[in-house]
Amino acid sequence: MDTKKSYGGLDVFKMIAAFLVVAIHTSPLQSFSAEADFFLTRELARLAVPFFFMVTGHFVLADRLWGEEKDFDSVRCYLGKVAALYGVAIVLYLPIGIYAGHYKGLTLFGALRMLIFDGTFYHLWYFPALLLGILLVCLLGRFCSLRAAMAVSGVLYLIGLFGDSYWGLISSVPGISTVYELGFWLFTYTRNGIFLAPIFLVMGAWMKQRAEEVKPVPNAVGFGVSFALMTAEGFILRYFKLQRHDSMYLLLPVCMFFLYGLLLTWNRKSIGAFRTISTWIYILHPAVIVVVRGGAKAIGASAVLVDNSLIHYLAVCVGATAAAVAVALVLAHFRRPSFERDRAWIELDMAALAHNVKTLQGLVPENCQLMPAVKAEGYGHGALLISRELNRLGVKAFCVASVSEGVELRKGGVKGEILVLGYTHPKQFDLLRRYRLTQTVVDYPFAEELERYGKKVRVHIAIDTGMHRIGIPCDRRDEIYRVFEMKNLKVEGMFTHLCVSDSKDAEKIDFTESQGKAFFALAEDLSKKGYTCPKKHLAASNGVLNYPEFAGDYARVGIILYGVQSTSEDRNRSGAAFRPVLSLKARVACVRELAEGEGAGYGLAFVAKRPTKLATITIGYADGLSRGLSQGKGSVLIRGHKAPIAGRICMDQTLVDVTDVPDVQTGDIAVLIGRSGNEVLTAYDMADALGTITNEIFTCMGARLTRTVKRR
Ligand SMILES: *Cc1c(COP(=O)(O)O)cnc(C)c1O
Repeated sequence: MDTKKSYGGLDVFKMIAAFLVVAIHTSPLQSFSAEADFFLTRELARLAVPFFFMVTGHFVLADRLWGEEKDFDSVRCYLGKVAALYGVAIVLYLPIGIYAGHYKGLTLFGALRMLIFDGTFYHLWYFPALLLGILLVCLLGRFCSLRAAMAVSGVLYLIGLFGDSYWGLISSVPGISTVYELGFWLFTYTRNGIFLAPIFLVMGAWMKQRAEEVKPVPNAVGFGVSFALMTAEGFILRYFKLQRHDSMYLLLPVCMFFLYGLLLTWNRKSIGAFRTISTWIYILHPAVIVVVRGGAKAIGASAVLVDNSLIHYLAVCVGATAAAVAVALVLAHFRRPSFERDRAWIELDMAALAHNVKTLQGLVPENCQLMPAVKAEGYGHGALLISRELNRLGVKAFCVASVSEGVELRKGGVKGEILVLGYTHPKQFDLLRRYRLTQTVVDYPFAEELERYGKKVRVHIAIDTGMHRIGIPCDRRDEIYRVFEMKNLKVEGMFTHLCVSDSKDAEKIDFTESQGKAFFALAEDLSKKGYTCPKKHLAASNGVLNYPEFAGDYARVGIILYGVQSTSEDRNRSGAAFRPVLSLKARVACVRELAEGEGAGYGLAFVAKRPTKLATITIGYADGLSRGLSQGKGSVLIRGHKAPIAGRICMDQTLVDVTDVPDVQTGDIAVLIGRSGNEVLTAYDMADALGTITNEIFTCMGARLTRTVKRR
């Protein structure tokens, strides 16, 4: 089923690359031959860092900068993580750096140069280079195609080349060399985030697109030839003493292109631990060098451990690996475990959400903004996940049912206006201000209570035009006017709620129209009296679908945003089509056979009428699978076949009759809402079976469910 490509080859090479970096800093072959050591540390090992950059380009940048939808937010999140790691490394090497006199006489400018370009310890230049490189590539990603980004970063690489291995060619050319000297004053080397990192980051992103089509033989040949040529290039440059530094070769990007392609063809299982361990070998090996040298001196073993460069190298490799494994183990211990898609879960189709938002925006007039209802955990979908995604899609207003829901959104970083649609206890009035929430005036006495609170609060006034749930009755004009006069209430809007806008019945349509008329008549009276009420709104989902003439300043869309209506019978005058966002899934835990006449489950309520195969699935009524679906009232999809629920649904597990489903196995996915093969079960099916509405199905989703997001 899972056709996802494995990237184990890349993981293995990450370890190799880490040991190559250790070689650069220990010169393993120095005791034997200067040429051999040059080959190992200045040529072969130069493949390591570009490789790390390419992996980042491939896995972090490709989709986010050149995928279907740009996603700078998660790149920013990645930058934060790299910066944090850099911070840890800086602190780690501070004592060694101070001891070695690294920071003596350091000016502010020198410190900045270290921090941004050179790194605060010799190998740490990698981190600022990665950060700066990603920032630069993001800039390219914003404005150029991948091809153009390749060209720009290629030019940067060429410029860098002449400050590195090819310095000798231009060092005596007046003008040009002056420009470079100026550069060297800003950064010690050109192998940094501006000239070296971008090309490999972009190449990594490009490789992502090529990943499916790479072939082993051409890449192996290509790498062999280009690496041989690069070796020659390096020795020639060395012979003519042209190198100022030796990180950048003309042929290095070519070698990397073939090497990376070759590694992509190695389709072995990925080894996640190698990623962490190789990173920490990189970070820790200079400290291990200090420890090995110090330790050897202390026990009088320098002659063996240090003087023989190869043994020294091996000792450092062993030490660094041990230290890295230790760090990886400690980190694994503290990592928050993930339970995604393990037992019972919700899958959110964010592409569907984006489609629904766009469709709704097309239904309301230009000046009407969406103000999605994300109350009750975003109709069970996950309030934060949905609201953040809506923020990303440009939505800037939300409504919730309670202060606590509003606070949760704010704490999760949701931006824009948040309207609390219901009653708030006076004890919580402070929170309205602290979290910039807008409170609904649920009736006149509540307005007085809020006024007595004594501090400014933003409000929308609820107007009762016939639903008789909350709101100041529409005809009590004097009360409404008085709320506008209250000096602590900052009236930013008013709204009413339509209670029969789903109906096709002529009488109900009349009623809805009278609600709208009453509301707009009030608005007119207000402006005649000189009161300003910035925002007026009345339509929820059914209002938008059936009464486009009622669009106010906000459309408080709830259920339709999630892709369905309350029932499949509801009126939809717009004819617009929406896509369900939520799927509900679980796993098959085990499969067993029953003989005819045997019972199963609580009360032995299921009785096998024929030789029967039962699957037990990992979801129960505590997860939101209502007990009302027991005894075949509900079904699930397994391997593209529909299977009825057998017997009584339990709290955490459910039996399913899979006699007619071929080849069911432990670990199979059972779909309760959503698609499997060509079969679909909708929230309508479940709601109809239970005699309720989809809203209730969604909002009864259990707290134990995990949530997984799918973007396409
Ligand atoms: C819940 C709610 C909404 C959203 O209703 P849907 O029918 O789900 O679109 C809108 N307005 C108010 C006042 C609500 O309580």
